[in-house]
Amino acid sequence: MTDLYAVVGNPIGHSKSPRIHLEFAAETKQDLFYKAILVPLDGFDTEAKRFFKHGGLGMNITVPFKEDAYRFADEYTPRAQRAQAVNTLKRLDDGRLLADNTDGAGLVRDITVNNNIALKDKRILLLGAGGAVRGVLQPLLAEQPNCIVIANRTVNKAEQLAEDFADLGKVSGLGFADVDEPFDVIINATSASLSGELPPLNPSIISPETVCYDMMYGNSATVFNQWATEQGAKLTIDGLGMLVEQAAEAFFLWRGVRPSTAHLMKTLRDERRTR
Ligand code: NDP
Repeated sequence: MTDLYAVVGNPIGHSKSPRIHLEFAAETKQDLFYKAILVPLDGFDTEAKRFFKHGGLGMNITVPFKEDAYRFADEYTPRAQRAQAVNTLKRLDDGRLLADNTDGAGLVRDITVNNNIALKDKRILLLGAGGAVRGVLQPLLAEQPNCIVIANRTVNKAEQLAEDFADLGKVSGLGFADVDEPFDVIINATSASLSGELPPLNPSIISPETVCYDMMYGNSATVFNQWATEQGAKLTIDGLGMLVEQAAEAFFLWRGVRPSTAHLMKTLRDERRTR
């Protein structure tokens, strides 16, 4: 019987995860089906119970359910335990659910390998303090940056995150208005781009050497990346590479086979250019 996987979120219509995982499955000759499920904002537990009861083997979780998925799981990889936010669930042979967070590994791989940008000794600004930021802090700190500043609309969430990860490196939490010095790398992990909004940022955070990364991706440049280009950033990158890399990591957890990513990433970018 064909194995069943899914991604859940709200919204979910923009998700490229089904396409990516079905391409991975074809490339690695795995017999599986993968679908997107729109879940009501208060409906994560109901959907997850239903999905796994009906034979689902693995689930990806996106905005805004990553913390729900953490609460729902039975066992954790060390990085998911640390993040307390989960983007991948795997049903184990005994029916228990193993939780992982592959976002950070995907982001770091996209920045350091695909874009060839070293993070060691860099000053990094992370915008946002939701599930995605929780997921990427440990892998980013493992690259030994000079420091990470987390800036968020709700300031106490940024402060709390900084406290939670302070044992791993130099991390601080602030509000957007408090950040006005240039950074080497700025990563937008707010969901503002999803609704075409820009957080209230000081233009002075960008110098001609700044690399800007928006975790969001779309058919054209995100609002944040457009703004960063206008402020003179050296380079802007969107989250398509992170998406493909975190998916490859989840696929490996589920199937024990690592798909290749470069060809698929090029295909997705080429398709976008011809739209
Ligand atoms: P969450 O819902 O957990 O967190 C959202 C964050 O965005 C919060 O910090 C929130 O601030 C902030 N925010 C929302 N709206 C605004 C706004 N208008 N202005 C300023 N800040 C705002 O989402 P996630 O952390 O899970 O995801 C964040 C983004 O990252 C999404 O766009 C998601 O698609 C993307 N992502 C991409 C991935 C990829 O593979 N490319 C992987 C993971 C995430 P507050 O705390 O004040 O509410």
